Amino acid sequence: MPFSRAAPSEPSKTDLGPLPKSAAIPLAAQDESAPAISDGDRLLVVEHEPIVSGLVKHAAEGVGFEVILTGDASVVLKTARDWKPTVLMLDLRAIGTDGIELLRGLAEDRCTAHVILISGLDGKTMESAMQLGRERGLQMSGLLHKPVQLETLRELLVRFKSQTTRLSSELASAIETDELFLEYQLKFDCRLKRMVGVEGLVRWKHPALGTLYPDRFIPLAEETDLIHRLTDWVVLAAAKQMAAWHVDNPALEMAVNISAKNVHVLAFPDRLHEIFQAAGIDCGSITLELTETGAMREPVQMMDVLTRLRLKGFKLSLDDFGTGFSSMIQLQKMPFSEVKIDRSFVMQMMSNEGCRVIVEILIDLARKLGLRSVAEGVEDEATLRCLMGLGCDGAQGYYLARPVATERIPAFVCDYQLMGGGVKAPSTELLSPLTNAWAWRRRRAPARQSSMSSPA
Ligand code: C2E
Ligand code: CA
Ligand code: CA
Repeated sequence: MPFSRAAPSEPSKTDLGPLPKSAAIPLAAQDESAPAISDGDRLLVVEHEPIVSGLVKHAAEGVGFEVILTGDASVVLKTARDWKPTVLMLDLRAIGTDGIELLRGLAEDRCTAHVILISGLDGKTMESAMQLGRERGLQMSGLLHKPVQLETLRELLVRFKSQTTRLSSELASAIETDELFLEYQLKFDCRLKRMVGVEGLVRWKHPALGTLYPDRFIPLAEETDLIHRLTDWVVLAAAKQMAAWHVDNPALEMAVNISAKNVHVLAFPDRLHEIFQAAGIDCGSITLELTETGAMREPVQMMDVLTRLRLKGFKLSLDDFGTGFSSMIQLQKMPFSEVKIDRSFVMQMMSNEGCRVIVEILIDLARKLGLRSVAEGVEDEATLRCLMGLGCDGAQGYYLARPVATERIPAFVCDYQLMGGGVKAPSTELLSPLTNAWAWRRRRAPARQSSMSSPA
């Protein structure tokens, strides 16, 4: 579908934008009105070779995409913000050396488009760019090598067309029909040397696509405001499960993930309080985990909601700590009780000195701010030992336990207490003796399944 409007500096169906002369990409929006957003599939192409962009446009329009072409870096961020493309095809060299800076700008804007890199560059460089984009939270969905074939292009675009359109409309009914479910990952207390709780992680049992993980649908939910219903579903499910587990384990704590969008709704604290109260759960045993990237927007409104959540007894955790944009002042002002050090640092801390130093500093910072520190992404015993040595308060990761289905939690916990976690368990000296108060009562635990996943 063509644009209804044509402004001189507006991106259009032909490549209007000149290549930038300066190295800097302006992040501010230009002074022009935004193109209207339709319901359909929207493709933004950032490519400087007219033959390639012409081919992409031809293929994309052929399968029903609206297309904007540009080679102008200053237009890309604004168009991505205003027009919200569902797919973004990007030749990193189309905008000189600033392709990487552009990825950063898109990530800062929380761009949810599927990003496909097109390039004639060598594979290794492109893989690094893909990895970088992923680490910044972009949906890096594919690599296209030049020369690009029309058929390959069509196939790729059709895949994203059907996924994006279908998934967002299906998610609403999935919430109603209970296609969502929670898995739980154990949380380990480094000082008590035992498991103290679980974190609920949402999954979607899609009838055609199988189990989908949150990265595939949380951004969609946030974009469409379905996130409010999704969080409501998650909290209701978590409260119900917690009530069942509390029969045997009243000390069990639980963490649930919430979205930054939730904490901008003034009624959110009351709703959460009502749900947990109705289930007979003390809000003090619930930690709400909020990701750092989304955490620091509109700080006044957020402070209002977070403070009221704290007053109702909920604990608040700043998730993915170290990856986002929170200023230290805001972190110190907001009523968080815990920070979760991002797994990208923890997973590499034994092989990468820089990562180890960052983890050390983040643990120290948390301690000095009076916050609990939890390291996520602990994948081996050496990492766990090192974290304990650094004074980290809590740990989570595949080494300790992978996320598992609800019904496996009691047996899983029981095994941890009795046997140190199964086959590749942490050394027993890393765990407290069986006498701890949290051990699941054996009589109620389901029989141990042979398929029980062992850590790592
Ligand atoms: P998160 O809150 O940081 O959750 C931890 C993620 O790391 C989980 O991925 C978990 O499976 C994975 N993980 C845990 N231990 C390890 C490890 O040792 N190594 C590695 N490589 N990965 C590990 P998952 O389940 O795919 O969740 C991804 C993200 O989706 C979560 O990151 C969270 O931000 C979001 N999410 C999950 N459930 C919900 C939810 O109910 N609501 C909202 N708003 N977001 C959710
Ligand atoms: Ca989390
Ligand atoms: Ca995290």
